Amino acid sequence: MGTELVVVAGGGGFIGGALVSALRIQGVSRIRSVDITPSENWHQIFPDVENLCLDLSVKENCHKALEGASMVYNLAADMGGMGFIENNKTLCMLSVLINTQLLMAARDLGVERFFFSSSACVYAANKQNSTHLEDGLRESDAFPAMPEDGYGWEKLFSEQMCRHFREDFGIQTRIARYHNIYGPHGTWDGGREKAPAAICRKVISAKLSGNKEIEIWGDGEQTRSFTYIDDCMKGTQLLMHSDITEPLNIGSDQMVSVNQLVDIVENIAGINLKRKYLLHAPKGVRGRNSNNETIKQLLSWSPDTSLETGMEKTYRWIYDEIINNRVS
Ligand code: NAD
Repeated sequence: MGTELVVVAGGGGFIGGALVSALRIQGVSRIRSVDITPSENWHQIFPDVENLCLDLSVKENCHKALEGASMVYNLAADMGGMGFIENNKTLCMLSVLINTQLLMAARDLGVERFFFSSSACVYAANKQNSTHLEDGLRESDAFPAMPEDGYGWEKLFSEQMCRHFREDFGIQTRIARYHNIYGPHGTWDGGREKAPAAICRKVISAKLSGNKEIEIWGDGEQTRSFTYIDDCMKGTQLLMHSDITEPLNIGSDQMVSVNQLVDIVENIAGINLKRKYLLHAPKGVRGRNSNNETIKQLLSWSPDTSLETGMEKTYRWIYDEIINNRVS
């Protein structure tokens, strides 16, 4: 492995932490992980990595963070699950400062490659009105633009900015549209968690407390696909090292309804719960799935992990966290 410095922005978060872990295992010797969150609260932290606590929406901090770097993965954003993004649109949009300052620092410091973590939330709302999406969302479905209000607009704008920094300044930008990434070390409580972790937590809590009821946001028939973190890591690195300059889906195409996701978790837990539907809770679009034809064709990537296998690993990890934190 070379001695080039790789910077992971947002390295204290779920996906950033997994990426630092993967890079270490691959033998990358110079890694710098940067996050605004104090290091004691990082999802994963490794003492043999350079760990910095910096606010990356500030220009000077981005210069410190990228000094000497040849590759930058930007996984820093103020974000969370549907409950967070529907109620914090300004905060979500302010992440544009992180991407802008990082791109400008990358240009000024001569960074070669820059990865941006975009989202399935860039896709136009009118392509996601039905629970039965025949074909999933193709990359071209982002335009004409009608993304998720707040979070999705920021991602779509930042995608365009990556494109222009590449065209105008020659930085090799790479863009992934992640579809619901989940797995061990993800956020599972506190209001920023996403459906897979939230459902695991609720089922575990019902199992431990004996209160055999579960609250579900919406009618449970809304559909999604969920991507296991290890698959996301493989796709991310393949894309980063490729010559693909257009945004690509990194997602699973195993679409399920939220009710089916609850079935899977109940099955893992060996329990049956009474379902209480909160019809006014944040729900997001009616149906969403990833179309993987382009990434399959260009990078021969598709996810290896079934939802059942990934959820089992996630459930076990959250269970241990709950027991260790003595939360029930
Ligand atoms: P996360 O919240 O666990 O990680 C994001 C990290 O960014 C956090 O540790 C946070 O402290 C840090 N951060 C926020 N503001 C910062 C700032 N001003 N300066 C420095 N660090 C800052 O989220 P994640 O799930 O790991 O997501 C990583 C990236 O992938 C984000 O850009 C997110 O929008 C994108 N994404 C994630 C998913 C998913 O399902 N997890 C789906 C689509 C896109």
